[in-house]
Amino acid sequence: MNSEIISKITELKKKKNAIILAHNYQSPDIQDIADFIGDSLELARISSQVKEDIIIFCGVFFMAETANILAPHKKVILPVPDADCPMARMVDKSLVIETKKKYPDATVVTYVNSTADVKALTDICCTSSNAIKVVNSVETDKIIFLPDKNLGRNIARFVPKEFIFIEGYCPVHNFIYENEIKSAKERYPDAEVIMHPEVEPLIARYADKLLSTGGMIKYAKTVRNRKMIIVTEEGLIYRLRKDAPYNEYYNIGRDIVCQNMKKIRLIDVLNSLENEGPVIKVDDEIRVKAYNSIERMLKL
Ligand code: SF4
Repeated sequence: MNSEIISKITELKKKKNAIILAHNYQSPDIQDIADFIGDSLELARISSQVKEDIIIFCGVFFMAETANILAPHKKVILPVPDADCPMARMVDKSLVIETKKKYPDATVVTYVNSTADVKALTDICCTSSNAIKVVNSVETDKIIFLPDKNLGRNIARFVPKEFIFIEGYCPVHNFIYENEIKSAKERYPDAEVIMHPEVEPLIARYADKLLSTGGMIKYAKTVRNRKMIIVTEEGLIYRLRKDAPYNEYYNIGRDIVCQNMKKIRLIDVLNSLENEGPVIKVDDEIRVKAYNSIERMLKL
């Protein structure tokens, strides 16, 4: 059944001049048919450069919005439109406007896991791989950082600036517990602990390396015969085993799963190619403002 769907997807993709982009947390089925797999920053860069007319974006809503902001003349399709990121919905624009009024001399740095209208109120965006670089690049000593309180605090300790947090969190990474990390370390005493910076600062203390998913893959490819406890969404472990099979990868004793990332199935990709929808389109006025905040980050 899957092979039938896959061959239809391949055929339609060619016929309609489409490209499939997938986030590192997508299910193995989707990763296997994607033309490009990456983290938020890598997917944002690719979206701005694609030559195809249609982008089938296998990820969550804010990522498809970002693709549309960067490639407004392409048709950006999110096969399951309710695949959304709860963290991106935790901070709305009124909260940002209010905080900006309170701290008019601060620079607003927004994690890309945010809605387009929040990005439109932002000075510069960041991702988990470039957050420190972005924060260091801005001229002010005061930073309004949103929406991930954990990423913000995990980078703030390396940056001598004043941070004002507008607090949201990733429900997948925020609820990883100290006892889970301790017992994984006991099970695999000679393994490195590689974590995503969306974990709580208390948990981040156990990390040998705090890396974005793209950073984890790059790191795993540079070493050989290592053991690693991977503290992020399980989709990344699938990708690591495929792309860097010479190391061993363990989870924390359970699969860490983002249900939203797992909403897109092969059949949804096929339907979206057949119907050329659902299309994600950001309102023009918001798009132009949001573009500036992403573009500043990409220029870095
Ligand atoms: S893993 Fe967390 S931040 Fe990423 S999409 Fe899922 S809920 Fe959002």
